[in-house]
Amino acid sequence: MNPDVDALMALQAEDDVVEEIMAQLDAIAPRLEALDQVRAGALKALTQLKGAIESDERKRVELSMRLTEHKERHDKNVAQLDVVKRMREATAAVAQVEMGRKLLLELEGSHRDVVNRVNEGRRVVVEKEAQLAKLDEDQAAARAAIQGEKETLGGTLAGARRNREAKAASVTASLRAKYDRIRQRRRSQSVFALEAGACGSCDTAIPVHRRQAMTASGSVEVCEACGVLIFARE
Ligand SMILES: [Zn+2]
Repeated sequence: MNPDVDALMALQAEDDVVEEIMAQLDAIAPRLEALDQVRAGALKALTQLKGAIESDERKRVELSMRLTEHKERHDKNVAQLDVVKRMREATAAVAQVEMGRKLLLELEGSHRDVVNRVNEGRRVVVEKEAQLAKLDEDQAAARAAIQGEKETLGGTLAGARRNREAKAASVTASLRAKYDRIRQRRRSQSVFALEAGACGSCDTAIPVHRRQAMTASGSVEVCEACGVLIFARE
């Protein structure tokens, strides 16, 4: 067999190793993104809750002011009842006091509701903040583990690349350039033996005379159909 073919197959084997490690490194980014997404989701829920509480708190203050104002006016109206002498005025004053009482009850109810909401919201915020702290703690461990994996893979990759360069040095420069171009495009196996007279990758038949010439010379050629490198086994 052409020594170039042996050297090329050895280089290809090292490139398989390099690409496998790179695929493992590529798989790390989505794992980190998934952690980021979970944390962002928890933080968003907490921020939304805090926003809702702030808005409720503003409502509470406003209701509280209205309640105070209304109470004062109502007390005044009630006191007024005692001094009203004439019947028609008295009827109007009683009706006004009744309406005022109704409004007072409504305002008190709304105020109570909003106070309850604010208190409940604050309780949930404390809970969610504790959950977020716990999440950060758990994620710190996961992130450290991923970082460790990344560093280990980085070291392995550097070693695999050195092996690859060592093997590449044994391949004729022109063939190596051709192979590198094809490999970069395919990012997978790029050298195939002919199988039953056809390209081992795309199965396109190679004419007999060309096949015979390839066997005789041991040359490595490009498959015209799919662009991989092909050679004939002896
Ligand atoms: Zn082919």
